Amino acid sequence: MSVQTNVDPAELAKFEAMAQRWWDPAGEFRPLHDLNPLRLDFIEARAGLAGRRIIDIGCGGGLLAEGMAARGAQVTGIDLAEGPLQIAKLHALEAGISVDYRLEAAEAAAERLPAAFDVVTCLEMLEHVPTPSSIVAAAARLVRPGGTVVFSTLNRTPKAFAMAIVGAEYVLKLLPRGTHEYARFIRPSELMRWARAAGLELQSLTGMDYDPFRRRASLTGNTAVNYLASFTRPVAGDA
Ligand code: SAH
Repeated sequence: MSVQTNVDPAELAKFEAMAQRWWDPAGEFRPLHDLNPLRLDFIEARAGLAGRRIIDIGCGGGLLAEGMAARGAQVTGIDLAEGPLQIAKLHALEAGISVDYRLEAAEAAAERLPAAFDVVTCLEMLEHVPTPSSIVAAAARLVRPGGTVVFSTLNRTPKAFAMAIVGAEYVLKLLPRGTHEYARFIRPSELMRWARAAGLELQSLTGMDYDPFRRRASLTGNTAVNYLASFTRPVAGDA
């Protein structure tokens, strides 16, 4: 898979258009703001954050990347949308937090920096990419043996369609219409198959529940809508 083909310009355009409001806790990224502490805790519990070298694929405006850096990680954030990256850089500067933000495809980063990271994160991004398995393979190359890779995405179920598209985009208008495309949602079994093919081992899989009225996020055993999965790259001889 060549780097140039694994990007959908229409998807990037959606995020360019929303870039200015990335850090507005009442804007389109409100659900990500509300989910962020939970996501950070999940990653910290499975992989640690302080002192870890981390690359965040599809970092956007930097909600997760900056959060991880604030907890002591040495973070590189990559994305292919320029506007969100500019916002990420400005916000980190204002917050006095150091993050290395770059306009780079995951596949290119994997060629440049194989096995260079203790942790690779890629949250809410796979469902916007033409060939997500190529991103998973790049993540597996970026992480060092013994390191951890964390993904989150939306499941392709009727419940996810009802909540993430009908509910969030049409009824509650939390997200602009067209933010998500159902056909691009990813079943956990598909993610696990791509990860296994890339040499990763599943560590944990958990659902994320979001109550938009109370603005509360929690982990749940039910992966029908949004879920987090962590994987490890085995040390040679372990697998
Ligand atoms: N991971 C962040 C942002 C999620 S929004 C978070 O969870 O807080 C999805 C991000 O994926 C956007 O910033 C968008 O620009 C990025 N993206 C979409 N397609 C991409 C691609 N092919 N390569 C890199 N980033 C991409």
